[in-house]
Amino acid sequence: MLTQCEVIWNNCLAFIKNQVNEQSFKTWFMPIVPKKFENNILTIQVPSQFFYEWLEEHYLILLRQVITKEIGPEGRLEYSIIVDQGNNKTAPVTINLPTQRNYVQPNNPAPLAHTPHNPFILKNFKDLNQISFLNPNYTFENFVEGDCNQLARSAAQAVAKKPGGNSFNPLMLYGKVGLGKTHIVQALGNEVKARFTDKFVLYASSEQFTTQFIESLRNNSVQDFTHFYLQADVLILDDVQFLVGKEKTQEIFFHIFNHLHQSGKQIVMTSDCPPRDLKGLQERLLSRFKWGLTADLQQPDFETRVAIIKNKMQADGIDIREDLIEYIAQSVDTNIRELEGVLISLIAHASLNKRDMDLGLAKQVLKNIVHDIDTEMSMDYLHKIVTEHFNVSLESIKSKTRKKEIVIARQVAMYLAKQYTNHSLKSIGEFCGGRDHSTVIHAIQAVNDMLHTEQQFKVSLEEIKRKVKIKLPQVS
Ligand code: ADP
Ligand code: MG
Repeated sequence: MLTQCEVIWNNCLAFIKNQVNEQSFKTWFMPIVPKKFENNILTIQVPSQFFYEWLEEHYLILLRQVITKEIGPEGRLEYSIIVDQGNNKTAPVTINLPTQRNYVQPNNPAPLAHTPHNPFILKNFKDLNQISFLNPNYTFENFVEGDCNQLARSAAQAVAKKPGGNSFNPLMLYGKVGLGKTHIVQALGNEVKARFTDKFVLYASSEQFTTQFIESLRNNSVQDFTHFYLQADVLILDDVQFLVGKEKTQEIFFHIFNHLHQSGKQIVMTSDCPPRDLKGLQERLLSRFKWGLTADLQQPDFETRVAIIKNKMQADGIDIREDLIEYIAQSVDTNIRELEGVLISLIAHASLNKRDMDLGLAKQVLKNIVHDIDTEMSMDYLHKIVTEHFNVSLESIKSKTRKKEIVIARQVAMYLAKQYTNHSLKSIGEFCGGRDHSTVIHAIQAVNDMLHTEQQFKVSLEEIKRKVKIKLPQVS
């Protein structure tokens, strides 16, 4: 039996779902839990302060609209924010905030500690800047934006504008290898240095951090080690999964983390998996990560891969043909490091053998890297062809809409995926907006039926297949 507040919120969700795209809906509305409804005030629980600010910044109008619709003009929304998850002894701590800007800042749950005394004095900021360990080649300008990295990138940019003074503290980026984590956090560091010359940015890989710490244990200089890190205005610790199982290093990091955080300093971390999967990381450290924002980086889609190739080639002053770009983007869909590797080999082959950079050469280079490229068509690419042909958006294909033209495009996409890729029915369904395998079977059946009954459809499908085949070059 649903409570009144759950019913109201479900109605709100039904409305919101049609107003925002699927990804936003999943990210920003699904995690919300309706808590209570009293005196025309609907209280919803959101996971963090940042989450609340994001909703207020981006969806205020929509939320007002839906609250008025569901509750009436006197309806109000209130947020309940978990500021401390608690553990099995203490209950989670929450604060409530009304929906409006300029709200009164709640009492800071973590009182500011006095800045730690620091005997390890570095001469001036010039010295500090030289030991930031940042690579100036990583910038936001040369980081291509796509759906796969949008949240991570914009959060990092926001942090760079106001390090420490934002609610993305700590900022935790995670994602598989080669998707741009190091690039973004380094870009963040470089940007802070460019904007605030007096701020000390410190980048360290977790491996370096661990080695330095062990070294300092050996030299009896743990204090120096700690104080060095405590001077950072922005501390970037890359690949924290490396700390898993290293109890002592975690402890010292926990200590540094707390001091920096309490003195309003910014902490940025990356990991190759979501924090919850960091088994062997102390619970108290993990719970700190939840204070700020966690954003993931996903595999780049076809368009982003094309943009990245163009970007890299342009930066190197190399002209590259459009069909070649598309061919490479279609063939290499794992990660960006691999994509870069292919481009480097391609350039090297072209210059060593004094050959033009053409499709023939690309095939040769890729032959050793990509398997079964003649039979394996990427789903992204297939969807691109289908959506272009039917002139519908990828989003609508993945959505729940039952509009006829979209249903047909969706069914054709599934039909072709079965024919041209090695994906299972289950994975095809998942790609088409999380549908199950029986829906895919039904789609294939429906397309077969239409092929027999509608001449026009048959012509149209042949046309698409022709396009697919053009883009499916045979490896020589
Ligand atoms: P990770 O740290 O996640 O393993 P990196 O940040 O080292 O990945 O990225 C691998 C390579 O791909 C780097 O050379 C980086 O510059 C490049 N790269 C990753 N994402 C992008 C992007 N969106 N735009 C441009 N280059 C990118
Ligand atoms: Mg990295």
